Amino acid sequence: MHFHITPMKIYSDFSLKNHNTFGLDVKCSRFIAIEDETEVPEAIHQLSDQPFYVLGGGSNVLFTKDFEGTIVHMQTSGIAVVEENDLSVKVVAAAGESWENFVNYCVTHGFYGVENLIGIPGLVGSCPVQNIGAYGAEVKDVIDSVEGFYIADGQPFVMSNADCHFGYRNSIFKNELKNRCLITNVVFRLSKEEKYNLSYRALSEKLQDEPLSLKKVADTVSAIRKSKLPDVHELGSAGSFFKNPVVSQTTLDTLLQRFPDLVHYPANGGVKLAAGQLIDLCQWKGHRIGQVGTYPLQALVIVNYGGATGKDVVDFYSRIQADVYQKFGVKIEPEVNIL
Ligand SMILES: Cc1cc2nc3c(=O)[nH]c(=O)nc-3n(C[C@H](O)[C@H](O)[C@H](O)COP(=O)(O)OP(=O)(O)OC[C@H]3O[C@@H](n4cnc5c(N)ncnc54)[C@H](O)[C@@H]3O)c2cc1C
Repeated sequence: MHFHITPMKIYSDFSLKNHNTFGLDVKCSRFIAIEDETEVPEAIHQLSDQPFYVLGGGSNVLFTKDFEGTIVHMQTSGIAVVEENDLSVKVVAAAGESWENFVNYCVTHGFYGVENLIGIPGLVGSCPVQNIGAYGAEVKDVIDSVEGFYIADGQPFVMSNADCHFGYRNSIFKNELKNRCLITNVVFRLSKEEKYNLSYRALSEKLQDEPLSLKKVADTVSAIRKSKLPDVHELGSAGSFFKNPVVSQTTLDTLLQRFPDLVHYPANGGVKLAAGQLIDLCQWKGHRIGQVGTYPLQALVIVNYGGATGKDVVDFYSRIQADVYQKFGVKIEPEVNIL
């Protein structure tokens, strides 16, 4: 048997402008593109002596400057059913697949569970990292396991859902394993039984009198998203820039005396506030300084109107953070990974 071995693609002094949805004009010293899982051990070997960062679609990162080190980019592909019964199906997807492809695959095949997450930019390999969520759904509810390699010793791992320590926009990959592993595949458990998650009011209202189908739900979510979020091909952003802060019931009670209209939801360990509303109440919605601003339709999104630098974005978000703290005594933290 003949194996055709092509050399792994490694580029020097590589522009990341098309690899971050903020559209920031930054570069890295070295860029390794992994097109096949068999290249992973060699790629990991290459990382031993330099700072590195694993990059997916770059839709949740802010490069504040050029990256002096190696960027590893998963470009593997493939989606396959690995197990099936009458009620559910187990599907494995390669880290380099686009999340959009994966959601479309599930919607087309009649697999329930990710339709509310349609339209989230990025790659499959990143979905467990911050436990992506939208419209009442979180990816943790359909992840069976995550496969990858530890960077320190090149050993493979399979992590069960419980091992991933999923939380709100959080997981082990943002904590103990932050920049310590390379996710290669994500295994999902999806339902074949018709069931929809309409817990999100804007969604249930829109679908009230409609015959439901996976496609209908996915299309409705897409339409709502389009009306609220900028298209990254038209306006650079990383989506919601801040996480919704979680405060204690006591803090909420005090705040409600001064701001009776504050939106709040129950959350693990307290009450979640809407960061977008806090920013809005500080008059930052649609505000622009130079080439950086908050999106006029959604204060939580910081946009690059063209030519902004990472430093401009940092200065801008720090001012928002300071104003929100001053008005509400609540610290809002970036959801975005800052490099
Ligand atoms: C317009 C817009 C809308 C958005 N809407 C939502 C939303 O509704 N809900 C939501 O949750 N998010 C949302 N996001 C944020 C973002 O799309 C998600 O966080 C997405 O999962 C990031 O995927 P990515 O491939 O671009 O990851 P990147 O930004 O490239 O990386 C994100 C993190 O994952 C790590 N990582 C990536 N790949 C791997 C790998 N193979 N192995 C190990 N670590 C890895 C990176 O090191 C980094 O820490 C939005 C972003 C934009 C721009």
